[in-house]
Amino acid sequence: MSRPSYGDVPPENKDKYLQIIHRNIIYVNRLIDDLFLFSKLDMQKLNFQFASVPIGAFMADLTEEFRLELEERQVRLEYTDMTEKDLPVRLDGKRMHQAIRNIISNALKYGPEESLVIRAVLSIQGDSACIELSDNGPGIPADKLPHIFERFYRIDNERTKDLASTGLGLAIARELVEVHRGKITAASEEGKGTCFTITLPLAG
Ligand code: ATP
Ligand code: MG
Repeated sequence: MSRPSYGDVPPENKDKYLQIIHRNIIYVNRLIDDLFLFSKLDMQKLNFQFASVPIGAFMADLTEEFRLELEERQVRLEYTDMTEKDLPVRLDGKRMHQAIRNIISNALKYGPEESLVIRAVLSIQGDSACIELSDNGPGIPADKLPHIFERFYRIDNERTKDLASTGLGLAIARELVEVHRGKITAASEEGKGTCFTITLPLAG
């Protein structure tokens, strides 16, 4: 049996194969990055640069940055700051940004192509800052909801338009929030949308 040589592949198939190879390379690259991050988190070798950061100013900057990025994709981001005083939180801004980016990129990936609205609300609940991020996407079935923060858990592959998904985004977000001694939860209603809540202890 002769081995097929690349030169025998018709040009139209060549492009298809190259696209498949390209997609797989992107996927493997993301997987390596995410797994590397996890192994560092697991070994407590990931460096966190904590500082006392006024949470209102942090959220105003972050949402403005995302708002501009999302506007280009015709997605609306609404931000409401319900706090009366801009209180400090012990924060690694870069890592918290990454956790929130993972949540927002899910809203984009699983949400409707048109009229997607992402809402961010900041409030103070007791001695914690509370960041709610909600979307008007398809929602998550109640029986699947308890699993979404598990590593590699994905609801169904058909939902995903983006083939580079690893199923690690929310697991990473949870770990990053927990290193801040915070909590992340999700509530969802099928057909209505999903709301993620991050609570972070206020700096004492
Ligand atoms: P990755 O984040 O690595 O690209 P992923 O998006 O599939 O992959 P997670 O971000 O951990 O993985 O999300 C887990 C699953 O939860 C997703 O596969 C998706 O089915 C579901 N999910 C997460 N966020 C939403 C959302 N806002 N709306 C609907 N389903 C969601
Ligand atoms: Mg994701």
